[in-house]
Amino acid sequence: MTKFSTQSILAWFDEATQAPLLIAGPCSIESPEQVMQAALELKQYTPVSLLRGGAWKPRTKPGSFEGIGEEALDWLVRAGQAAGLPVSTEVANAKHVEKVLEAGVDVLWIGARTTVNPFYVQEIAEALRGVNIPVFVKNPIHAEIGLWAGAIERFQNVGIERVAAVHRGFFSTNKGVYRNEPQWHQSFELRAALPNVKIVCDPSHIAGKRDLVSDVAQVAMDLSMDGLMVESHPQPDQALSDAAQQVTAAQLGQIIQGLHVHDSDYSFKQSEALVGLRGELDTIDDQIVALLEQRFKVVKEIAETKKRDGATVFQMDRWIKLVRKRMEQGPEHGLSPEFMHDLFSTLHKHSVEYQSTLIKKED
Ligand code: PEP
Ligand code: MN
Repeated sequence: MTKFSTQSILAWFDEATQAPLLIAGPCSIESPEQVMQAALELKQYTPVSLLRGGAWKPRTKPGSFEGIGEEALDWLVRAGQAAGLPVSTEVANAKHVEKVLEAGVDVLWIGARTTVNPFYVQEIAEALRGVNIPVFVKNPIHAEIGLWAGAIERFQNVGIERVAAVHRGFFSTNKGVYRNEPQWHQSFELRAALPNVKIVCDPSHIAGKRDLVSDVAQVAMDLSMDGLMVESHPQPDQALSDAAQQVTAAQLGQIIQGLHVHDSDYSFKQSEALVGLRGELDTIDDQIVALLEQRFKVVKEIAETKKRDGATVFQMDRWIKLVRKRMEQGPEHGLSPEFMHDLFSTLHKHSVEYQSTLIKKED
């Protein structure tokens, strides 16, 4: 018995609790043969329920492969028919919507570079008014939950009943191991804002490297996300886009088999041990908040001193020393330098803002 959904994509949308959905396929549709091979192999090796493939590729930099365009839609539809799978592609404007509906594509998705722009999203939503096709909405490039939730609502407002979210990670200037920072808490916020909207994870665009895909997928399953969208290509190294993160169908089959997928009511089951540990965390967090209160009292005194001495609020050398010291200290306490950097940069930023408002007030 597979741990992934074996029901139709429509049933997955319509039922509140369901096994996770697997969406898979190449980043870009490159040729009729490539997408056909991808579809047939995925069907053979994985519990895939929806085939994906990009026809128009919104690339960050010009000059990279920008997709075959309209012609690729028929190749995708034919590959889906041969494998007995519904198919999905990305749309970024009303013209794309028209072409995709003509070609008989079953499901649409909105890419991260489109979700950022409410004008584009509204244009696409208007083009879909009266067409009840399922839509997946990727998170915007940067972590702005309002834009993500807003885009989903724009589709619901034109009468689309089946809208789901895709968490594909967020652009970050702090380059860590991932191509796009997962910032998992953002998906919790979306869940809190739109509790009836399913969220699938795209571990490929988060990971950026194929070796990391299974770890990211496991975290998504541990967080009870509702499915996965994974990029899979018959010859990943030859892929015209996102080569480093794509996996073969056989590799994807292994990844899926290795995943630990919890029961659908997992999030409601809390063992006593977990309740106890969460209680411990709550106590520690209370202590942290009390310490922060003390810290900000000192910050206030510093603001008064700076005002008296006519010193500037932001002193670059102080900031560099403060953050560097904590980054060096972190590993002695089992805390990574990246974490120390982020934590103390945030603390310092808020201290500076607080001081600026205090000094202004007294002027
Ligand atoms: C994609 O799915 O191939 C894609 C371009 O994704 P994103 O919009 O998440 O960057
Ligand atoms: Mn891609």
